[in-house]
Amino acid sequence: MYTNNFEYLAPQTPGEAFELVGRLGSKARILAGGTDLIVLMKDKVISPEYLIDINNIEEFKGIKYEPGKGMVIGATTKIAEVEYSEIVKEKYYALYCAAGELGSTQVRNMGTIGGNTCNASPSGETPTPLVALGARVVVSSAAGEREMPLENFITSVRRIDLREGEILTRFVLPEPSPKSVSRYAYMGARDSMEIDCVNMAVSFELEDDKKTVKNVRLVMGSVFVRPLVSNAVPEILIGRKFSDELVEKAAEAAQSEAMPITDIRATEEYRREIVGVLARRLLKEAFAAAQEV
Ligand SMILES: Cc1cc2nc3c(=O)[nH]c(=O)nc-3n(C[C@H](O)[C@H](O)[C@H](O)COP(=O)(O)OP(=O)(O)OC[C@H]3O[C@@H](n4cnc5c(N)ncnc54)[C@H](O)[C@@H]3O)c2cc1C
Repeated sequence: MYTNNFEYLAPQTPGEAFELVGRLGSKARILAGGTDLIVLMKDKVISPEYLIDINNIEEFKGIKYEPGKGMVIGATTKIAEVEYSEIVKEKYYALYCAAGELGSTQVRNMGTIGGNTCNASPSGETPTPLVALGARVVVSSAAGEREMPLENFITSVRRIDLREGEILTRFVLPEPSPKSVSRYAYMGARDSMEIDCVNMAVSFELEDDKKTVKNVRLVMGSVFVRPLVSNAVPEILIGRKFSDELVEKAAEAAQSEAMPITDIRATEEYRREIVGVLARRLLKEAFAAAQEV
């Protein structure tokens, strides 16, 4: 259970970090909280020669909210900081819920929001609500920056659109419409320290009549190689008066879109069933909440 010998490097500025990541290339791995990385190193799945710890770089951490503009969350912000942020809870409720469900207190105090995305596990807790909330990621290097929707950044299982020399530096979340709400839920085999067999997030908004759906975005986790944005659910709901019948149609459509697999945590059939359960639950919860806004 020991890791290989590696050299530990702790840059203090973005410039130092970009120089190291660019120069050392595939010999190095970026270390954030280490809650995924060190496990893989102990299991000898990976054996990097260098670890580049990016936790000392002020520019890569913290939560900043500007009314009317939205929020920027630094990649090395701890999951616990997201969980305890009042402004995240108020404006981006689905993300607040997901952060509180990730691992244990210890894991949330070590693990970072950037690490959760870069690990690119289909069952990852925070990418699903981040995608539902319209988050974009910024990846930076000595050469400059690129920005893209988070759903494009995660390309497959454990695969992200990160080129040599780049670091994921921050998430950019748009200001939510004043009347929109968001919700998150997951299902796992037990109630603590489990890996989700399905998770889901919804952002939702009603017209002024409080009955007609103005906007909805439903995102599923752990039923595809990356967060899966439903195309069918908005088509069914937007512009129509919310009803149990429509919710049923939407839930069935989400089940048809899901592409789950059978693995150690759940069968394909069970996962598809849970997609329907969570879709019904979250859409109804979101509708009730949106009526109160
Ligand atoms: C006991 C336990 C329970 C867990 N439970 C859950 C759970 O319920 N839900 C869940 O989603 N996860 C869970 N995890 C997984 C893990 O804690 C999270 O994925 C966590 O957010 C990873 O963040 P980190 O900062 O520790 O990443 P690290 O381990 O430091 O890094 C993960 C990967 O991302 C890369 N990386 C990290 N940051 C960057 C960056 N800014 N730019 C480019 N590459 C980067 C690293 O090189 C590495 O490849 C659990 C882990 C443990 C050990």
